Amino acid sequence: MSIWVLRGLRDGVVTTRWPGRPDEYADSWRGPVVVRDGAAPGAAPGAGDLCPTGAIEISAGRVSVDQGKCILCGRCVTARPDVFGWSAGATGPGAAAVLREALVVPEVPQTRQAVEAARAALADRTAALRRSVHVRHVDAGSDGSEEWEIQALLGPVYDVHRLGVFFTASPRHADVLLVTGAGTPGMAGPLRTTYDGMPDPKVVIAVGTDAASGGLLGDTLTGVPATVPVDIWVPGSPPPPFGILKALLVATGKLVR
Ligand code: SF4
Repeated sequence: MSIWVLRGLRDGVVTTRWPGRPDEYADSWRGPVVVRDGAAPGAAPGAGDLCPTGAIEISAGRVSVDQGKCILCGRCVTARPDVFGWSAGATGPGAAAVLREALVVPEVPQTRQAVEAARAALADRTAALRRSVHVRHVDAGSDGSEEWEIQALLGPVYDVHRLGVFFTASPRHADVLLVTGAGTPGMAGPLRTTYDGMPDPKVVIAVGTDAASGGLLGDTLTGVPATVPVDIWVPGSPPPPFGILKALLVATGKLVR
């Protein structure tokens, strides 16, 4: 008997049931930075200067973090643990939002209403995709880190095939466009051509902080939203597979939030 069969029998089923069931591995990941409850602007003088990507804003009586710009460097959490912390649970490693504004925390009430409306509109548009989807991935100037996390989705731990998610090389067969990278000018044309070549309804997922905002290159590149209309935003640099998995489940209507 092959060694792989013996290993399989020894390890049993390793596929995660997350988010349907808790997962110790998911809980061990840290998510994007959040502002601790009750942190006041007066408690964080100069905190904005800590951030290399300008994700922290202190204005009008409010400290906020734009997770779409956060590269998870940890400088703010190390310097001011009383103000900033790592997110966990559904908003942590599995963070994914249907509105760019929803990546700014703490959330304001208007954002909550807008998120509900965006979620309902997306669910209506993608009702036909609920059984199974084909995904086309485009690298629009990635450093390669997001690709490793996407690759992990095909392994036995995440096994997205069991959820009816398959990757395809052809835009003509794709329902979901998974975009990584900071949106380099040279990839704008190919990215748009891929999007235009996909049949309706189609869903665009921006995977990672670089795709959402340009990340560390945010002064010169702005991510992918200038080229294609993004439906779901996954923060992180790179985001863990749990975040990408959640975005795919939202895209296929298997998860509403
Ligand atoms: S962890 Fe995120 S918010 Fe904090 S300093 Fe780094 S990039 Fe900025």
